[in-house]
Amino acid sequence: MKFWRKPLDLDEQKVVRGEVHILRDRCKGCGFCVEYCPEGVLKLDHAYNKKGYHPPVVIEGKECVMCRLCELLCPDFSIFITERGTGVPEVRDD
Ligand code: SF4
Ligand code: SF4
Repeated sequence: MKFWRKPLDLDEQKVVRGEVHILRDRCKGCGFCVEYCPEGVLKLDHAYNKKGYHPPVVIEGKECVMCRLCELLCPDFSIFITERGTGVPEVRDD
């Protein structure tokens, strides 16, 4: 992230990183999460899901900052974020 000036306490702040979880077969490929992610973390996959849509995938090398905007915007509850390193909750993809 670029700042027009450096915040005084920047070195003291811990930047939390998120782990992106995508329920591929719930997704309808609307692209909202891709379009509005402020860090450009996501893109639509070339592969199809069971419904015939292209679900999002995380772009290699990009880092999620856990703003959770994608979670809020997704109309199908197909994407959610956990703090990196805290494990993956058990979910049903149906
Ligand atoms: S939580 Fe924020 S930064 Fe992470 S993938 Fe979703 S929109 Fe992008
Ligand atoms: S917002 Fe939800 S339904 Fe739309 S592409 Fe992203 S994960 Fe799929």
